Amino acid sequence: MMIVMKPTATEAEIQAVLDRIESVGAKAHPSRGDELTVIGAIGDLEHVQRLGLEGAPGVDKLVPILKPYKLASTQLRHGERSVFDIGGRKVGGEHFALIAGPCTIETRDQTLSTADIVKEAGATMFRGGAYKPRTSPYAFSGLGQEGLRLLREAKERTGLPVVTECMDVRDLEAVAEVADVIQIGARNMQNYTLLSEVGRTGVPALLKRGLSSTLEELLMAAEYILKEGNEHVLLCERGIRTFETAYRFTLDLTAIPVLKELSHLPVIVDPSHAAGRRDLVEPLSLAAAAAGADGIIVEVHPQPEEAICDGPQQLRGSDFADYAAKVEQAAALAGKTLGAAV
Ligand code: PEP
Ligand code: MN
Repeated sequence: MMIVMKPTATEAEIQAVLDRIESVGAKAHPSRGDELTVIGAIGDLEHVQRLGLEGAPGVDKLVPILKPYKLASTQLRHGERSVFDIGGRKVGGEHFALIAGPCTIETRDQTLSTADIVKEAGATMFRGGAYKPRTSPYAFSGLGQEGLRLLREAKERTGLPVVTECMDVRDLEAVAEVADVIQIGARNMQNYTLLSEVGRTGVPALLKRGLSSTLEELLMAAEYILKEGNEHVLLCERGIRTFETAYRFTLDLTAIPVLKELSHLPVIVDPSHAAGRRDLVEPLSLAAAAAGADGIIVEVHPQPEEAICDGPQQLRGSDFADYAAKVEQAAALAGKTLGAAV
């Protein structure tokens, strides 16, 4: 933390700030310039923050040096990136995750046939929602427990780790029993109780960026999970709201390199919910993979026309192998290969 004193600060006011910093065990390093004095406070940031130096006599402003998201930040990691082993698949570093499956678990046949299709084409994880956040309270909101049971069956059949959403802490225990990765949906990114509870389960989490959230807010949300001792957080860019109405959301591709600069956590991109349209999913996926994303989470359905939810954006099962091969090539441009089973 840097404390910038006003040009008019007196020697007594400067000394009072130095004394207060040292009174909480931090070290104070004043730099006295011709115009003003700047004091570096080295030590426990929380203690220094609690001193309430803003507004103290002679103080102009406080400038934090360390990011507020301590655990998610790259600052103290010396360039080292997180690489996770999730259900035997590596994610992060040079390991690319291709997470694919239907928007929603609908039937046993739909679930297992999609799981077979994506496994065959090289996907590294299977996705599917048993609990669905829906804009309308009258829309289908998922099969719940039965959906979790089908996900377990798909996992046993294919060996693919499973990603599924938890919306409510009351369902967390049941979800955590099946999920290899618990998805926190965009609408719940700032549900801090849920974030902390997911952190406590120790199950890896895929944290989606809120519809109108900044990258700093996303990283602060990740911090809630990390703070509980759960190191396995995947950040997910899934499109944000902008003034553009020609497509559903704007996929923020710039977030990929910027998040990777700010954080050591893997960055996953969801082109399906950003686009809302099947024909945009492939170009967005290729761009994201080539831009250095650590993975893609994409919706696939054997017959999208019959899907209960998000039919227009789900890739056709019959197109998935071609799509996966192209994504693999784009990921290779960024030096990544599909996270093989270990
Ligand atoms: C989903 O992945 O099924 C979903 C609803 O995504 P989001 O929370 O990003 O809208
Ligand atoms: Mn969906």
